[in-house]
Amino acid sequence: MESILSPDINTCSTPSELKITDMRFCDVQGLPMHCILMKIYTNQGIVGYGEVRDFASKRYALQLKRILLGENPCNVDKIFRRIKQFGGQSRQGGGVSGVEVALWDLAGKAYGQPVYRLLGGKFRDKIRMYCDTDVEGKHTGKDMGRALLARMEKGYTFLKMDLGLGILKDVPGAVSAPLGFMEELPALWEKRRAAEAAGDRELARYLENRIYDYHNIAHPFTGIHVTELGFDVLEQYVKDVRETIGYEVPLAIDHFGHIGLEDSIKLCRRIEKYNLAWAEDLIPWQLTDQYAMLRRSTTVPICTGEDIYLKENFLPLLKAGGVSVIHPDVLTAGGILELKKISDLAADYGTAMAVHMAESPIGCLAAVHAAASCENFLALEYHSVDVPDWCDIYDDKLPKPLVQDGYITVPDLPGLGIETLNDEVLKAHIHPRIPGMWEPTDLWNEDVVEDRLWS
Ligand SMILES: [Mg+2]
Repeated sequence: MESILSPDINTCSTPSELKITDMRFCDVQGLPMHCILMKIYTNQGIVGYGEVRDFASKRYALQLKRILLGENPCNVDKIFRRIKQFGGQSRQGGGVSGVEVALWDLAGKAYGQPVYRLLGGKFRDKIRMYCDTDVEGKHTGKDMGRALLARMEKGYTFLKMDLGLGILKDVPGAVSAPLGFMEELPALWEKRRAAEAAGDRELARYLENRIYDYHNIAHPFTGIHVTELGFDVLEQYVKDVRETIGYEVPLAIDHFGHIGLEDSIKLCRRIEKYNLAWAEDLIPWQLTDQYAMLRRSTTVPICTGEDIYLKENFLPLLKAGGVSVIHPDVLTAGGILELKKISDLAADYGTAMAVHMAESPIGCLAAVHAAASCENFLALEYHSVDVPDWCDIYDDKLPKPLVQDGYITVPDLPGLGIETLNDEVLKAHIHPRIPGMWEPTDLWNEDVVEDRLWS
């Protein structure tokens, strides 16, 4: 008898009987950052891949294991609503988001469909990648221009570079700050390196906490101001870049350092004529009123969002008119479906969306499926142009390299598109301070806790 099932349906699985049985991890580095890869196992042999946000901790996901065991991963939204209370901003969103991604991978594999199709289909067949570009050490705008030009020659059609205090580091008279303040951080790093080399973990930990304190001084509280000479240097840098790459390719800028609102406005006004795609994370995203003032003070498109968890935390910025472009990360925002909801919300406010991404191919493919399903999508970030074995972690039908001529073709394979991971390649990237690979996590199966949100 002829089957009534579509040939795409995976008849080896019975989606309604699918149950989560285990969750394991592998911490790697250099792919391109410290990335935390996740497997969620089921009673039908299907394994879902997820990833906790770069530089976060697998514990953010492990605390969710007791809720996941025995649940049907195809009920993605229901499980997400149960676990979302255990996520937070930035890296703390990594556990919930990474699990959500693995649930979609499982659902897609169980139904034999690519994730984008379960989200309502796609707006585009190829995802435009925008290329983050660094030049090591002291350099000029001409050097950066040449590095960006090399990206364009590889097919990239959208670019980003850093612009800010890093460029002014060795320029006398470019910055005013409380005297001695700018030297504190390099001194702390130097001491930490020495402590680490001497094997003094206690001192190294103490110094790590002091480095955290320093980084955690929010922009309005540093007392750092750029002088007119400093703005001259930054303006000349952008001018030199534009003269090298031309004015037609979109160019975004990021990583200004902790300067406050007024200096951000001055900087944007200086560089308006260089036709920028956006200026990113100039000030902390929590400062809604300051964002609204910044956006109204310049014609440079203002962008933020890579550290924002959940749609409801994008709403104040959108309502206040504080951004022209939002920039969520699928592994912080709450996962694939939450990213789509954020995109739809932003579109209602006439705001475009670029997607932040500094992850392994797992996180990247999660962003690809989400971005395919979003109408207001501009481009997806890519940090791994110079990582030769980034694509070697998967062993299957997906193309290699994943990015070709500046684009990723949205895969039509089940789930995210990865069938098996190559453990030999992962082994070569194991994080030296977090050894072990796919080890048991039974200690996290049970807990005694009441996590209702109301009585
Ligand atoms: Mg950024």
